[in-house]
Amino acid sequence: MTSWEPYHLVDPLLARVPWPFGRHVEAVTVGPVRALRMARRWGGRTLMAVHCYVVGDTLIDAGLACYASDVLAFAREGGVRRALVTHHHEDHVGGASALVAEGVDVRAPALTARLVREPLPVRFYQHVLWGRAPAVSLRGFEGDAVALGPYEARVVAAPGHCDDQVVLHVPSQGWLFSGDAFLDERVKVFRRDEDFAATVATLERLCALDFDALFCAHRPRATGGREALRRKLAWMREVEGLVRRRHVEGATVKAIARELPQVRRGALLDLLALGDVSVENMVRAVLEGPRPRREVRRTVERP
Ligand SMILES: [Zn+2]
Repeated sequence: MTSWEPYHLVDPLLARVPWPFGRHVEAVTVGPVRALRMARRWGGRTLMAVHCYVVGDTLIDAGLACYASDVLAFAREGGVRRALVTHHHEDHVGGASALVAEGVDVRAPALTARLVREPLPVRFYQHVLWGRAPAVSLRGFEGDAVALGPYEARVVAAPGHCDDQVVLHVPSQGWLFSGDAFLDERVKVFRRDEDFAATVATLERLCALDFDALFCAHRPRATGGREALRRKLAWMREVEGLVRRRHVEGATVKAIARELPQVRRGALLDLLALGDVSVENMVRAVLEGPRPRREVRRTVERP
């Protein structure tokens, strides 16, 4: 088995492309929490915005590398001294190296810190949507509680979307900073490396926590967050039941994907993602489990 895939070879070239995207970056508030919302614009459309949040002197997630100077300015303006990263994906860790260079104490789960120590290759659609994150040396969380400005947050493991993800629960305020553990009530597509069983187990644990505001990195909700998470869990169970039933009846992955009760994403993403994000992946994730990226698996398996 080779240790590389085509996107590993193309990635260094794509990282040098001066992508002509339009900018979308603005400071917003979600309930009582300030956030920086950022996205790239293509053809007049804003694609998959991501948020980083500030609570007291603490920033949660670090946004996109192409907006690192905006993240820095937002952090400075808020008096940020510390930052916490929820997982290694490029839309959460992109501004981390700029923050570290400015003297911000950036912490991450231990596995995240190991993953981002070297530049992680990303696929074509990730270059288009977000761009690659620079490598960065981060310190790990110590213990399972961290200060979030004046509040204490519990660090809760939340694997599924990826192995290293954590979420931050602030019981005193009824807040959950969920990284990418939520995304949407009815996710319609899966990345090839997402773990369906771990996602369901994580949702079960998160639904048992006491919170109302859900600070999802992509689709935050100031209220009704736990109910939204419960609806997502119910949807995932419905998908699993349907997939397993149709598999036993002999339906193919493609046929089952066509039958899932959902609206398909735009053909553009299907085209750009070259199969890395698809409805079929969700079906395969139920039946066969995840297919981790090699560079991630290598780091996870290394002692
Ligand atoms: Zn992610």
